[in-house]
Amino acid sequence: MKVFKFGGASVKNAEAVKNVGNIIAQFSSDKLLVVISAMGKSTNKLEELVDAFWSNNQVLKQSIISELKAFHFEIAESLIDDRKHHIFSDLEDLFLELECLVEKKYNEVTYDEMYDGIVCYGELLSTKIVSDYLHSINIKSKWVDARNFIQTDNNFREASVKWEETFETINRILKPFIDRSIVITQGFIGRDDKNNTTTLGREGSDYSAAIFAYCLDAQDVTIWKDVAGVMNADPKRFDDAIKLDTINYNQAIELAYYGASVIHPKTIQPLKSKNISLYVNSFLNTNDKGTTVNNESGSLHNECYIIKEQQTLISISTRNFSFIAEDNLSNIFEIFAKHKVRINVMQNSAISFSACCDSKENKINDLISELSHDFNVTKNENCVLLTIYNSKDEYQLPQPYLSKNILLKQILGHTIQVVLE
Ligand code: ASP
Ligand code: MG
Repeated sequence: MKVFKFGGASVKNAEAVKNVGNIIAQFSSDKLLVVISAMGKSTNKLEELVDAFWSNNQVLKQSIISELKAFHFEIAESLIDDRKHHIFSDLEDLFLELECLVEKKYNEVTYDEMYDGIVCYGELLSTKIVSDYLHSINIKSKWVDARNFIQTDNNFREASVKWEETFETINRILKPFIDRSIVITQGFIGRDDKNNTTTLGREGSDYSAAIFAYCLDAQDVTIWKDVAGVMNADPKRFDDAIKLDTINYNQAIELAYYGASVIHPKTIQPLKSKNISLYVNSFLNTNDKGTTVNNESGSLHNECYIIKEQQTLISISTRNFSFIAEDNLSNIFEIFAKHKVRINVMQNSAISFSACCDSKENKINDLISELSHDFNVTKNENCVLLTIYNSKDEYQLPQPYLSKNILLKQILGHTIQVVLE
């Protein structure tokens, strides 16, 4: 059996959904599980709804829901002519649930718990629409709620999978359905053992596809993207970016870890452990060969450039000139872990420690204020983290970055990372 994953861009409007239908039609005789993300940028809109809920802004809540409703209904209406079709009442029901959810007063709910309860609607809406569209073009498919299968802990917004339970339920309950027809389900979402919705982290649908593939012993996973495959650089920034035909699992893990956004970082491990090939293909040019990730792939030698923008470099030094050694480091890491701020690159010298993190983390200010109890802390905002993977010995910064100031530089084997301002 195969697992397909379609991301937000592949279902961003009615035309795109029709294209997804064409692709699935070509595989309708295969055993197939299809994982789909929220349509277009609707997860971002739902994040705005979480903020509006949290700040109790009635007007904003209503306007965001109306906008989301109009967006999804327009797509559904362009795909399904019959206005009496049950898809329209199904969408109404989902929006009613969402409205009630953000109207209620809660005594003890955290922001992160509420976040997961709200953003999951993006995936629920998109999969309903795609599944009913497939029916309308005579592709037999079964819609299932991924939350019944992906079982997680309650670390909301970044939940960890409970592999044993997930494996067992997928094999016992879901597998027989896949033997009978194509299964359509959501990426990104799961459920904890108290029945609360959880999510696996932004862009987590790739990971969902890998979880299903692992549990089902799939033969391969295909991630359908709006790019030709895994590239050696972002084609929007580098005119000479080229597609990588084959890479091995470890290289894919490293590229994803450094921030190559084509594959979610957690996706590869489950596939690697069962030797399940991953194809990254273009949904725009379905006949073109994309990138294959597996064990057989030879070593990749191309130089790869990975850019992460909106970075903050946090510089920490001791007040009493004591060294940054085990005790100070463990204190620093504890504070980073407590505030759930992920470090993209770090470096330490005798009396200072620097860490580069995503600026959009609204947690950064809280982190800095806690660090400031014990240390001197400064920050540089609006930085760029550039990683050159497989760098040649004589490396050079790419043209647009030549004039920038290097704040931090780190070389590990053939990987060079620089934080630029
Ligand atoms: N819809 C979610 C997001 O945009 C998950 C995904 O697209 O992979 O983050
Ligand atoms: Mg998305």
